Amino acid sequence: MGKRYYCDYCDRSFQDNMHNRKKHLFGVQHQRSKKAWFDHFRGFSDILKDEQAKKPCRKFLQRGVCDFGPSCRFSHMTEVELMNLQQKVQDESRRREGLEDPVRPEPTGEEWLSRREKRQSGLASKGDGSRTEEQEETHDDVPSQLYSIPDLPPSLLPPPPGGWKVHANTEWG
Ligand SMILES: [Zn+2]
Ligand SMILES: [Zn+2]
Repeated sequence: MGKRYYCDYCDRSFQDNMHNRKKHLFGVQHQRSKKAWFDHFRGFSDILKDEQAKKPCRKFLQRGVCDFGPSCRFSHMTEVELMNLQQKVQDESRRREGLEDPVRPEPTGEEWLSRREKRQSGLASKGDGSRTEEQEETHDDVPSQLYSIPDLPPSLLPPPPGGWKVHANTEWG
């Protein structure tokens, strides 16, 4: 028995030889599965916009096949498919609205500063022994509003998430 080729997109396998592979990879079913797989990573609304902007592919709608496959510049979606997609977009946007309420309010700048001061005075009294771990911790909860102040010089910017890659001192010769 020869090797078997497994297609992740279609979730099926077949005997691996040139003929089968070609037949499969250029088949409508595979092209669809592959497209669906990639579409999964894009918003439904983007797809809908794309598809609505295209004219329907007459060849595809009449015969169910089109030489251009997923890269055809005409839409391969039937009216029903478009309607389903529209439904999905609506569902998704409703779900997003539901998620938009913040679960936990963002700390204000002052709150964050006073918390930070407390933490640092706590650190100072502890001595230098176990500093590094807790220093990193202070980077993580920088309020996002501090990141959104435009046009700050680099020296005034808050540290990136996870801290600086290189210590500034090491760059000076
Ligand atoms: Zn496949
Ligand atoms: Zn087409």
